[in-house]
Parts: sequence; C-alpha cells; structure tokens
Amino acid sequence: MDKKKITAVVPCYNEEAVIELFYKEICRVAGELSLRADFEFMFVNDGSSDGTLKKMQELRREDKRVCFLSFSRNFGKEAAMYAGLEHATGDYVAVIDADLQHPPALLIPMFDALTKEGYDSAAAQRISRKGEPRLRSFVSRRFYRVLAKLSQIEVVEGEVDYRLMSRAMVNAVLLMSERNRFTKGIFSWVGFKTKWIPYENVERAAGKTKWSFWKLVKYSMEGIIGYSTAPLALVSFIGALFFTFAIFAILYIVVKTVLWGDPIGGWPSLACMILGVGGLQLFGMGILGQYLGKTYLEVKNRPIYVASVVETNEAVKEGEKKGE
Ligand code: UDP
Ligand code: MG
Repeated sequence: MDKKKITAVVPCYNEEAVIELFYKEICRVAGELSLRADFEFMFVNDGSSDGTLKKMQELRREDKRVCFLSFSRNFGKEAAMYAGLEHATGDYVAVIDADLQHPPALLIPMFDALTKEGYDSAAAQRISRKGEPRLRSFVSRRFYRVLAKLSQIEVVEGEVDYRLMSRAMVNAVLLMSERNRFTKGIFSWVGFKTKWIPYENVERAAGKTKWSFWKLVKYSMEGIIGYSTAPLALVSFIGALFFTFAIFAILYIVVKTVLWGDPIGGWPSLACMILGVGGLQLFGMGILGQYLGKTYLEVKNRPIYVASVVETNEAVKEGEKKGE
C-alpha cells in the first residue's frame, strides 16, 4: 500500500499560548501513523494580535512539514478554514482547532474510517458539553433543530468543526466559494458518506474562547439565511394572514354600520392596528433586507480572505521555479 499524505488545517486566532502544545500532540499522532501516512500541518494565522505568527515561523524553521498562511487581518474562522483547504496538498485533509479541544488522537480512527471502511469523511461528534455555559448549549441545541426544520441542512447534534475528508470532498467544499460561509452547512450540503466518531468535550488547554455571545448569534443567522428562504415565506404567510383578517374585519364593520348606524368611536383600536401593521411591514422589510444584504455582499465577489504571508512547500517550489 503506498503512503498517503494527510494535511491538518489549523485555524489560529491569538493562540500563542497553545500552539506549541498542539504541535507536540499532533506530532505524536503523526508518529503513530507514520507507517501509513505522511503529514503536512497547514496553520492559518487569522490576523492574530499576539505572537501566534512568530510561533508558526519558529515551528517551520525546525520542521518543514509545518506550513502556514497569515491573513492581513482577522477574517474569521470560516475564512481561515477555506484558506487552509485551498492550500492543502494532502490526499486527505483534516480541519482541527488549535486549542486541543479537538483531540488530535481521533485522527487515527478517522483515518481508519476513510482508508479501511470506505467512508469519504469522518467527523467528530461531541457527546457532552461539559464546561460550557448551560444557556449556550441550550440555545445552540435549539438553533440546530430550527435549522434542520427550515433547510435541508442536517447538523448532527454535537457536531464540531473537526473532521477528516477525502480529496474529492475537499474539492467539493472548495467549489462552494461563497462569501457568507457557514462551514457546518457546507459539509452537510456537499453530501458524501460520513462516519461520526463520538468524543467527550475537553476544555481549552490554554488561552480563551474567541466566541462572544453576539458572534454566535450572528453565526446562527448566517446559517439560517444562508441555507433557507423560510423566513421570506414566513413573512408572506403572516402578510396573507393579516390580509384575510382585515377582509373579515371590513365586512363585519360594513354590516354593523348598515344595521345599526355609525356611532363614532373605536379610534384607539384603529391606532393600535396601524401601529401593528406598520411594525409588521418593517419586520418583513427587515428580513428582505437581510437577504438583499447577503446578495449584495456575494455579488461584490470580494476575496474570502487576504493573505499577507504564504509559507507552504508549494510556494517554495513555485519560488524556485521562478528563480531559474
Ligand atoms: N478562530 C479563528 N478565527 C476567529 C476565531 C477563532 O481562526 O476569528 C480559531 C481559534 O484559534 C481556534 C478555533 O477557531 O483554533 C476555535 O475557536 P475557539 O476555541 O475560540 O472556539 P470554541 O472552541 O470556544 O467554540
Ligand atoms: Mg475552542
């Protein structure tokens, strides 16, 4: 059996505290798999403001399996993953967090699933949410249930952005070059046979989480708007409902006036209705606006990320060619 290459894509944003620990751990795993696969580590520095880039440079000086890209500013984890996948040269590509919350040792059963069991992808599934705020797990559980109802996107309970993919699947993911990226949705959308590998939640090895509550809310909106037009349908439905109600109300008032005359009064209820309907219209316009805004950003066709430094083995080869 010839040896395959695995690329591990690691998005890093202010991870100087853990990056070395992570590197040691993944090297240990690479050692265990060394008979069957070679490794390439594709670190992506997502515009960190600490010494993350310096750590990457140090690692590359020692070990040429380490490649890295560095963004000109913070573009977000989704963009970092895309950039990593784009530069990955492996036959298999893994995406994994730098904070050791995604145990690198899982790469071994993942690799087995792809090479021996015929899966196209193997993904980690967190079976506990130990160490996470209660509210956050509750909200996120609800969100994925709503998303599954509204769109064809099936996000498995406990799914995290940690998986190993075959080259075919990576190429499919790369074809989805949309700017509003919601990677869990993309992985589900492209299909492919996926094996789920359960693991216990682990706390961050060091440093702190980059997700604020608002960032998560925004991420969820991205998910719903990016994969479903149900909110638009909902607004039409509410509009139709109100219109039907109005027709009946008008009929009622006309009949009442004809039969009993027209005593003045009822303007407060009218004012309430105007306010209510006005509010509803704004709500509907807001939802429309969300889609329009996304379309606007998509149409501009801006790059997903801007890299200021690219140090990969491919880049070195290119440079050598040009040097001739
Ligand atoms: N990350 C990134 N860009 C960002 C935010 C996060 O590249 O803007 C990386 C981060 O360095 C880490 C991974 O994404 O490797 C997951 O982030 P974090 O651990 O903060 O999220 P959590 O595990 O709390 O969901
Ligand atoms: Mg984390």
